[in-house]
Amino acid sequence: MSTDRLKARLLASAAAIVLSTPAFAQDEPLNVLATVAMIADVAANVAGECAAVSSLLGAGSDPHLYRATAADVDKLAGADLIFYVDPALEARLADVLAGFADRTPTVGLARAAFDGDALLDDPGEAGAIDPHLWMDVSRWVRIAPVIADAIAEQRPGCADAMAANVESYTARLDALHGWVGDAIASVPEGQRLLVTAHDAFEYYSAAYGIEASEAIEGISTESEASIGDIREVAAFVAQSGVPAVFVETTINPRTIEALVAEVQSQGHDVTIGGELFSDAMGDAGTAEGTYIGMIRANTVTVTEALGGVLPDWPEALHDWADDWNIAY
Ligand SMILES: [Zn+2]
Repeated sequence: MSTDRLKARLLASAAAIVLSTPAFAQDEPLNVLATVAMIADVAANVAGECAAVSSLLGAGSDPHLYRATAADVDKLAGADLIFYVDPALEARLADVLAGFADRTPTVGLARAAFDGDALLDDPGEAGAIDPHLWMDVSRWVRIAPVIADAIAEQRPGCADAMAANVESYTARLDALHGWVGDAIASVPEGQRLLVTAHDAFEYYSAAYGIEASEAIEGISTESEASIGDIREVAAFVAQSGVPAVFVETTINPRTIEALVAEVQSQGHDVTIGGELFSDAMGDAGTAEGTYIGMIRANTVTVTEALGGVLPDWPEALHDWADDWNIAY
C-alpha cells in the first residue's frame, strides 16, 4: 500500500471515529430522574429504551415532607433530565431543584402540562395549587406527551417511537379512567363520601363523582392535625353516616384511628375501610408499585368499603393484569 493511500485510510477511519462518537452518545439511554414514582412510571412507559428512569421517593415517602439526602443530590447531579410535580407538593425539595435548573433541564409538570383551568387551588394557601393531579387519570395522562417532548429534546431520534408509546399508554389510561368512574358510580348515592387523613382526593372526587371529601389535614401534610380538626371531621362523619374512613400509606394511621375513636365518642360507628396510596405508589415490583395498579388498588378499596360493586376490568388492561397475575 502506498504511503498516500495509507494516509487516506487513516484519515478516513479517524473521521469515522469522530463521526461515530456523537452517534454513540445518542444511543445511550437518557438518564431521567423524577421526584415521585407516579411520574417515573409514566416516563418509563413513554420512553421505552430511550431512557433509564428512576425516582427519588419510594413507597411510603411523603413528598410534602421529604428532604434531599446527600445521595439524592448525587443522583440529581448525574441526571440528564429532571421531573417534579410542583413546589406545592415537593416543598422541601424546591430549593435543591431550583439549584439544578440552571444546568440540567428541570420540568415542573403541573405547570408544564396544565393550564390554570385544569388546576384546583389550595384553599388553605393563597396562590398555591392542589398538586394531587395523578388522582384524576384523565388529567395525569396529559403529562405523557410533555415528558416525551422533553426527552426528545435530547434524543430526537426517539421522537417517533415515543409518540407511539404515548398513544398506546394513553389508550390504557383512558380505559382505566372509564373503569374508575363506573366503579364509583356503583356506590349508592349518599355513600359516595371520601374521608381521609389529608386532602389528596379533590381531583379524584371531582373526576369520579365523589359527593363530598373531607380530610383531617389540608392539601399539604406540613401542619400537624389538631384535636379541633379531628372533631370537625368526626362531626361530618357522624352527621352524614359515612360507612368507612381511610388511612394513607404515607401518613401515620394514628390520625385516622383518633378520628374513629372521636366518632365513637359521639355515639356513632365507623370502620377503617383500608389503606389508600395517596402521595406514593406501592413497593416497586408489585402491581401497586405501578401507576395503573395504584389507582386500581385505591378504587377497589374505596368501592368495596363504601358499598359499591366493581365493574369488569377493561379489556385494554388485560395484558397489564396478566403481567401481575391479577384475575379479571
Ligand atoms: Zn398530599
